[in-house]
Amino acid sequence: MANAYAYDDKNIFARILRGEIPNDTVTETDHTLAFNDIYPQAPIHVLVIPKGAYVCADDFYANASEAELVDFARTVARITADLGIQPGQGGQGYRTLSNAGEVAVQEVPHYHLHILSGRPLGRMLQKAEDVRG
Ligand code: 5GP
Repeated sequence: MANAYAYDDKNIFARILRGEIPNDTVTETDHTLAFNDIYPQAPIHVLVIPKGAYVCADDFYANASEAELVDFARTVARITADLGIQPGQGGQGYRTLSNAGEVAVQEVPHYHLHILSGRPLGRMLQKAEDVRG
């Protein structure tokens, strides 16, 4: 599949990956980096990013190698295990989410998965009439 995305390598996560900006690393593998969100929305707010240049979820899932995909997924599983939040292991649970593009208000155009936990997170989405902007 042709990759229709133009990756902007000046985005903040590309700069973190190049070591130009510090980050509070949670874990790192050959293909994946996880670090704490600078403006946490919950007591646990980890961002998981591939090291490859992918703009958003569909770009990553369609175009990443199997090694990158497996590494990313296993890293998410390991982080939730290490944090003790897996519901199947007696943890309180968590939410993963990924914003893609305009309607989701994606701020940083490098694919990232948010892992949120540590407080009740409410329903998944606001009602449309409550959304501003
Ligand atoms: P998005 O809206 O793109 O899904 O989320 C981007 C996230 O990146 C936001 O939660 C924001 O707080 C976080 N963020 C933006 N700049 C930085 C930064 O320089 N360092 C870290 N650790 N997180 C950042």
